[in-house]
Amino acid sequence: MSLTTDSRDPRLGHGADDQPVPQNEVYLVLSAEEIAKGFIRPVRRSYIHVGKITELKGGTIEPLSREEASRFGDPDKYVAFLRYPESESPLVGKALTQKEVDNVGKNIGGCGSFTTMNLTIAETYARDPKFYGATYCCFCQKHLPVNEFVWDGTNERVGS
Ligand SMILES: [Zn+2]
Repeated sequence: MSLTTDSRDPRLGHGADDQPVPQNEVYLVLSAEEIAKGFIRPVRRSYIHVGKITELKGGTIEPLSREEASRFGDPDKYVAFLRYPESESPLVGKALTQKEVDNVGKNIGGCGSFTTMNLTIAETYARDPKFYGATYCCFCQKHLPVNEFVWDGTNERVGS
């Protein structure tokens, strides 16, 4: 595994994986000059794969009629609408399945494993928390969306 500051490097990976894969040959990081501008989060080396979570964040769950549900596609699939608070504007909300409604506030699908990363990658997160969209879980052997992970010892989502 090596690092590059060139976002056009053809050896870079592209987002999340459906199937287990080895780590990428090369990972993108910020340049030393950019990192030297200062950290806006602590430098943290390890995260835990806790899984996806649907958080209310001040939003409300409204039941959907079959007619309303059909506007989101399959009326048998969606049962409710998560209406986001005003602060999330221009996003209005999203349709939820029964399973998603049951799982609101719970972490789903994480393996619970602990992954430790290279220092420069950790410093890149600390300088720019939203720099990466996906990150590697050593146990699942997949790159997965950063919001499936929390920083070790915290409840803070990676990428936030
Ligand atoms: Zn995992």
